Amino acid sequence: MDKVLQYLMERLGYTFQDIKLLSEALTHRSLKGANNERLEFLGDAALNFIIAEALYQKHPNANEGELSRLRASLVKGETLAILGQEFKIASYLYLGTGELKSGGAQRESIQADAIEAIIGAVFLDGGFEACRTTVLAWFKDRIDNPELTHGSKDPKTLLQEHLQANKYPLPIYTIQKITGQAHNQTFNIECRVEGILKVTSGTGKSRRKAEQNAAGNFLELLGQKNDE
Ligand code: MN
Repeated sequence: MDKVLQYLMERLGYTFQDIKLLSEALTHRSLKGANNERLEFLGDAALNFIIAEALYQKHPNANEGELSRLRASLVKGETLAILGQEFKIASYLYLGTGELKSGGAQRESIQADAIEAIIGAVFLDGGFEACRTTVLAWFKDRIDNPELTHGSKDPKTLLQEHLQANKYPLPIYTIQKITGQAHNQTFNIECRVEGILKVTSGTGKSRRKAEQNAAGNFLELLGQKNDE
């Protein structure tokens, strides 16, 4: 078994029986031979269905339009690219030399497509239930996140809009602490706004996530966070 892919599988929370499927899911079309486009096609469909069902169950009062918007915010490339960053997928991608040299591994669209391809590969390797369990574990926080039910705006955006509407300056995010080893860091970030005495903090596995959590806590502090 490929030792390197073992680390990735640990992060994905799924162990492939047929490791070739995972390799294929990580192979960009810039390489000759089998690439991940067909798996991406399959994974895209599986992802949409799994998320649709989860949202249907989770939000019994949401109408069709709201459910569609929610799903769109969850399956969009930007969200998938964030997952890609969490899984550190860039270092596992197989790219042609041109793409490799131009930094293709870091490109959001390439990472997002690979995430879809991995979902397709899990489906073929382990069947629908395994695929469903894996995908739901990846998306659990995002499905449960109540502010998502009020649109696709993230806490940082919501906070910024709220502050601007109330004539406050933009929030300032500062790293307080980074713990853990290079491949498994936890960020602790403080959010403060000039003119407001209280500060909030947030933690997360990436700087971006920690900032979002700090912003969400700040919204809560201001009484702005809507629960369902
Ligand atoms: Mn795609």
